[in-house]
This record gives sequence, structure tokens and C-alpha cells, in this order.
Amino acid sequence: MAAFAPNSALVFSGRGATGARSLSSRSIAKPVAINDQSRARKVNVGVRAATGSIREQAGRRAPLEKSTLFNCKYVPFSGDQNEEYSIDDVIYRSKNGGLLDVQHDMEALAIYPPEYWKALFDERVGKTVWPYGSGVWSKKEWVLPGISDDDIVSMFEGNSNLFWADRYGREVLGMNDLWVKQCGNSHTGSFKDLGMTALVSQVNRMRKQGKPLAAVGCASTGDTSAALSAYAAAAGIPSIVFLPADKISLAQLVQPIANGSLVLSIDTDFDGCMRLIREVTAELPIYLANSLNSLRLEGQKTAAIEILQQFDWQVPDYVIIPGGNLGNVYAFFKGFKMCKDLGLVDKLPRMVVAQAHNANPLYRAYKTGFEKFEAIKAEPTFASAIQIGDPVSIDRAVYALKETNGIVEEATEEELMDAAAEADLTGMFNCPHTGVALAALKKLREAQTIGPSDKVVVVSTAHGLKFAQSKVAYHAGEIEGIVGKFANPPVEVKEDFGLVMDVLKERLVQ
Ligand SMILES: *Cc1c(COP(=O)(O)O)cnc(C)c1O
Repeated sequence: MAAFAPNSALVFSGRGATGARSLSSRSIAKPVAINDQSRARKVNVGVRAATGSIREQAGRRAPLEKSTLFNCKYVPFSGDQNEEYSIDDVIYRSKNGGLLDVQHDMEALAIYPPEYWKALFDERVGKTVWPYGSGVWSKKEWVLPGISDDDIVSMFEGNSNLFWADRYGREVLGMNDLWVKQCGNSHTGSFKDLGMTALVSQVNRMRKQGKPLAAVGCASTGDTSAALSAYAAAAGIPSIVFLPADKISLAQLVQPIANGSLVLSIDTDFDGCMRLIREVTAELPIYLANSLNSLRLEGQKTAAIEILQQFDWQVPDYVIIPGGNLGNVYAFFKGFKMCKDLGLVDKLPRMVVAQAHNANPLYRAYKTGFEKFEAIKAEPTFASAIQIGDPVSIDRAVYALKETNGIVEEATEEELMDAAAEADLTGMFNCPHTGVALAALKKLREAQTIGPSDKVVVVSTAHGLKFAQSKVAYHAGEIEGIVGKFANPPVEVKEDFGLVMDVLKERLVQ
């Protein structure tokens, strides 16, 4: 009972505390009042002390009254009950070589009612309070509850906008409730930041505990290495990235170079890089940051929670995610599922994974009703971040799809480039992966699987500017085998008034 004693969690210091306190109690008073008046005063969501850095201010802040009860651990993804590991262990796989999953103490989290969590998350959105200004760490109790605020490495990632695709939905697809979650509007230009803040924070903590982790490393199709190198650089931790030579975009290559990573450009594909880094991390004290690593998914799942929050806890009918290694679809599922299990929402969306036809092992398995899965050799695709033939998280993805009555769709190179370009004409600037998801949406809409007023979220996984080369090639008509239905090449004109007028008359006066 002691923890319920009035004011036990309220430790304010410095100027401005009273104002902040009355603000937070006012904004949460209504929902919390259903249980216990005293709780209203104790919701303590980043009250600012006036002095010191935001990190120091966080150090003086009292924790949520029940937060010591929250915890998480690693368990085998297969559900084996007899095996578990501390989150502070350096471990990637279960005893039998299977995937691990981060499991939260849901009973402890359920001590607080849904209204409490909603109010808490809403209260923290988009502030500069350490670390809650981050869209990931604003959900800290559901991500890594045991980590000290001081160990967190964050760039206030997340809180990305939901783009209402008004014109594209209306004019192209005959839909009125279509949204694009702009996960690429982020520090390094892809959703990978959401996972990397969780992983690098935990590595930071383990290094402080004295664990022998000389560096963090990953194999990457480009975006993971960009995110890893940025977060490692922010924390002052050495990083090493293995990249498939000539298979990533220039922007993706220059990011880890700029952030000071040791960059190994290897003459193979992603799957080859992955094999090598696994062998290397078995020999050297390098912490493996691949999506095999379940810590990252804890950060990535917050994008799903954020979508629900942005819709004021309305659940979309469909969420479409471009998938390669297939960790992200499971991360989104986990975010949605936690919200349902803790009563913040009452259902799950149908999840759709969109794959490039050239790298479609999940799509092929889906066509057999998930009876059988076979790794394939992925062929080149403009959606280079999902050119993966042997996805690490295949079991996770199949689970998420089965639990949500999910769908898998695929898109050819022409379909994905066309979809990205057509949507760009309504104000977006899509990367090819988002193009894959948009092409999948178009097919599901044409098949009437998705209806005109269904609430649909397309997850945009990276910023289009990272993939300017292929977009330029599309508009220049330089891609072999693709007509470029929506190409809009620049018109080259000599410096001459008459010639400029000729072009304008031809194009404008019809
Ligand atoms: C990593 C990545 C994906 C695929 O995510 P998975 O978890 O591997 O399925 C999709 N799009 C972009 C831009 C990515 O960087």
C-alpha cells in the first residue's frame, strides 16, 4: 500500500514544477478518477526541474509509482516454458538455435488501467523531456522498463506523421480513409532508428555493467547500418558494418561512412554478409545488431502503438508493411497486440505483408497456406532493403499473419516503381519499398478485398530521398523493361525566350 500513499511519487525540485504538475494532473484527472483520486496527482510524466541538462533533470524525476514492478526478459519465440534469460545477457538465440522474444510482465502492466496508459502516452508526445520526447521512449514502460534513463541513447526518434493520402486515395483508388505512416521521416531516414535506439541503449547499459562488448556490428541492406552507425556514434561506441558491394544506394553507403563506422564493402549479397557477421561475432566481442536480435523489435513496435494513438485509439482495418527479413511485421503485430491485451483497443488490424516479386519467399509460402517455406535466392530489386531470400524472422511473420487473418501480396519491379511514382504525383515522395506496399494496396483494392471506406495504413519504411538514383532513372526512362507510365522527365531547353515559350504553349495550352 505504501506506493499508493498520496504524494509518494511526487518529488519536485526547482522552479516551474508546480505549473507542470497541475498541467499533468489536469490532463489525466478525468480518466484516472475512475479508480483512485490520489493517482491523479501521482502520474508523473516528465515534470521538468528547471536546472541542469535534460538528462540531469530526468535523474531527479521520481519514477511512476508502480514502475519497479515492470520488467521484461528473453524467452524462446517457440514458447518453450523452461528457458529464459535476463535482458542484460548477451544472447541472440535459444538453446535449440531458435529465435528469442522479449516478454513483458503483462500482469504488472495491467495494474494500470487503459485510460492511465493512454493519458500517460499522450502527455509525453513530442516534448523535450528526457527520454520521453522520443516516440519510442514515451512508451518506455512497454519497451525496456528496467533501463535507466541515463543509459538511453536517443535522438527523439518516432512521432512520425500519418499522412492522409487524400488525393491518391480518392482519385486513384476510390478510398477515403487511406493513410501513410511516414516512418522514413526520421533521423537516418528509415524506421530502423526505432529499433536501434532500443538496441544501442541496451548495449550502452551492458558496457557500463562491464560486459566485454568492444563494438556493435551488423550486416545490412543499407538502412540498418545507417541507423546503427548514427546511434553508436551518438553513444561513443565503435561500430562495424558489413554491406553488400554495389547493392545499396549511395545515400545509404555514405551514412555509416560519415558517422565513423568501420565499413566493410563485401563482394556478396545481404544473405552472404549475414553469414559472415554471424561467424565473426562468434569469435570477437562484437554485439550483433541484426534483426535476429529481438531488442530492436521492442523499439519498432512503438510505431504501431503510435498509429493507434494518432487515430485516438481507433484500430485501422488494414496495415500494409513492406517485408524483407520480416522482423518489422512482427514488431507491428506486437505493438497492436499489447494495446489489445492491456485494453487500450478491442481488436487487431488485418496485417498485410508486401514483398517484391524478385524477393518473395513469404509470398510463396503464403500461397501454400504456409504449409511449406523455402528460402530462395533473392533477385535484384529496386526495393533493395528487402532483397532478402532467407528471412531471419520468417516464423515471427507467419505467426503475426495467422493471428490477424493476414495477407501477403507481391509487386513486380514495374508495379512497385509505377505505384511509387503515381502516388508521388499526389504529393508524396515514396521510396521503392513504400512502392511495394502501395502496389499491394492497389491489387487488394482492385480485388475488392479492401473496400472504399476501409481505414488503411500503408507503412512507409524509408524516406524517398535515400533512393533518389532509382527515382531519377525511372523518370529519365532509363530502366530497362519498364515503360515508366508516370515518368515526368525534365524538358531541356536552350536559353531562348521563344524556345521556352514554345514548350510552355505545347504543354500548358491544350
Ligand atoms: C529494413 C527495411 C525493410 C524491411 O524490414 P524487415 O523487418 O526486414 O522486414 C523495408 N523497408 C526498408 C526501407 C527497410 O530499411
